[in-house]
Amino acid sequence: DADIPESHPRYESLLTRHRIEAGVEDGITSRQGLIAQGRGEAFDYLLGERTLPSADGAARAAAAHLLLADHPVLSVNGNVAALVPGEVVDLAEATGADIEVNLFNRTAERMERIADHLREHGASEVKGLTADGRIPGLDHERAKVDADGIGDADVVLVPLEDGDRAEALGELGKVEVVIDLNPMSRSARAADVPIVDNVIRAVPAITEHARELVDADRETLEGIVADFDADETLAAAERAIREGSDEAEA
Ligand code: ATP
Ligand code: MG
Repeated sequence: DADIPESHPRYESLLTRHRIEAGVEDGITSRQGLIAQGRGEAFDYLLGERTLPSADGAARAAAAHLLLADHPVLSVNGNVAALVPGEVVDLAEATGADIEVNLFNRTAERMERIADHLREHGASEVKGLTADGRIPGLDHERAKVDADGIGDADVVLVPLEDGDRAEALGELGKVEVVIDLNPMSRSARAADVPIVDNVIRAVPAITEHARELVDADRETLEGIVADFDADETLAAAERAIREGSDEAEA
């Protein structure tokens, strides 16, 4: 990565920017992705660039869902591929999930580049290129998924998903886990499990919980899922933004 000293107070933020820039240069991230990143940064700043206790609880519920799933799938777009490629591969391994490339601005070239990039980071199989399935209720390009990937999944992790698609996926009856720094975005509100945190922190956090829970029995995992409250998680994040304190979590 760039020559950013780790002691820099905004190290993580600068590293993130550098990765997104490199992603655009390498044809992995779209220019629209730069705008999405800017939006995310603003919310991360307001959240204090840290993982809230409520977001960690959501990451734990996400891990339980992924472990309980018959067919979990991790959806990867250009921002996620640029920011956390190796971390997504680790999460797929920890939960037995498939990885599927799914782009808002889909081009054959970018699909290939992202799949290659993920393979370079250790992914054995990358779905999304077949595109023989459709999500009902979306226009043609946005609707494309692999029939044996997201099309067949019972639990889907969609980091930074666009609001329309998040809503359409939710209507399909799949359990939807969304990572989004904006607790007011439609994507976060459509999710069964909204994780209001930076993907850079959230993806490794889900993996850590999954590794800890991998030997837990079904009852324990189902208990974690049942205890999770999506509305309360979103409300806690909003309070943290408005009041800027950990006490706001209580
Ligand atoms: P909608 O209300 O339809 O969901 P939106 O405001 O989310 O629309 P987008 O342009 O899709 O519109 O926004 C990208 C989303 O991704 C923003 O909500 C932003 O907070 C989030 N985001 C961007 N970068 C990150 C990141 N690194 N980690 C987590 N979330 C991010
Ligand atoms: Mg959104």
